[in-house]
Amino acid sequence: MDDKLMLMIPGPTPVPEQVLLALAKHPIGHRSGEFSQIMAEVTEGLKWLHQTQNDVLVLTASGTGAMEAGIINFLSPGDRVLVGSNGKFGDRWAKVCEAYGLNVERITAEWGKPLDPEQFRTQLEADTEQQIKAVIITHSETSTGVLNDLETVNRYVKAHGKALMIVDAVTSLGAANVPMDEWQLDVVASGSQKGFMIPPGLGFVAVSPKAWDAYASAKLPRFYLDLGKYRKEAAKNSTPFTPPVNLVFALQAALRMMRAEGLENIFARHQRQKNATRAAIAAMGLPLFAADQAASPAITAVAPVGVEAEQIRSILKKRFDIILAGGQDHLKGKIFRIGHLGFVSDRDILTAIGAIETALQDVGYEGCTPGAGIAAAGKVFANQH
Ligand SMILES: *Cc1c(COP(=O)(O)O)cnc(C)c1O
Repeated sequence: MDDKLMLMIPGPTPVPEQVLLALAKHPIGHRSGEFSQIMAEVTEGLKWLHQTQNDVLVLTASGTGAMEAGIINFLSPGDRVLVGSNGKFGDRWAKVCEAYGLNVERITAEWGKPLDPEQFRTQLEADTEQQIKAVIITHSETSTGVLNDLETVNRYVKAHGKALMIVDAVTSLGAANVPMDEWQLDVVASGSQKGFMIPPGLGFVAVSPKAWDAYASAKLPRFYLDLGKYRKEAAKNSTPFTPPVNLVFALQAALRMMRAEGLENIFARHQRQKNATRAAIAAMGLPLFAADQAASPAITAVAPVGVEAEQIRSILKKRFDIILAGGQDHLKGKIFRIGHLGFVSDRDILTAIGAIETALQDVGYEGCTPGAGIAAAGKVFANQH
């Protein structure tokens, strides 16, 4: 049905009406006083969202561009880096580092399992000469629905003293607690089409004073993504290059909504929806791909048995206009993923669960009593509000 599309993928995520209306405005000049005022407000809002006093810079880029900026501005060719790799995105950051000639050591875990912080500790403690210049972690690994234990890994990085903590927070910022200042994270990168509730096109990089120190001596080539340029202009509530001004209007509207809801409430909502989704999937007799202790608040991956993941996705799209994500790389066809990130209400979860249950009946799945999923999700919602 036209105009009924419901995105339950981990980006792009649904966009609220207030944000859509902001996008529909006439663009204004990006060197105008009006635009500077908006930049001042969104910068304040971004600091609030990152729980930081550090610079939070706005780039015209997807999340990958923000992460690439977060890596290349602070390192030099041949620098040794530890990269956590337990999914598609962790792999990507290792590849970016290799493309720039860094000396990459991957710390891996099987897809669907969290990284083991002990492996980072061992490497960091053994590095008495402080050759490790950065540790790069994907906090919420979107490809598998795993939340990595950033807090613990970061403690070992702090104990090391020299290495920067560079974080892909693309699907954890605005869903889980990422207190940049309290944890002393050095670089936190994210993208607009995830927890921000706005369309794709903006990338964000928050930078600590320690990372700026590293910037001063870092030697990898940089131009468009040279964060020093963005910092200089941000001090004047401006940007070095033409920003997508309508996306900045959208960001302003979205940040106002987020501030009205409050950080604690936003985190609680994601947590509740994760719990409801997982309870429902378990009640349907379908295996969850990530364990409870390592489950991302942004996305739930399901590895169905006795029914084809792609068939479920196809029925949801055709019959219900609900888009679920599939598996990536070797998980293609093996899992489907339910996004509950950003502008998602409890009602959306009930709708998606009801649709999945109907699709299961449609394909003759006999692993559960119809209604068990809705009952389980309803129980979570009834007891938490
Ligand atoms: C979406 C996503 C990204 C960025 O992807 P882009 O397509 O470049 O926006 C990075 N990391 C994670 C964990 C993501 O989910």
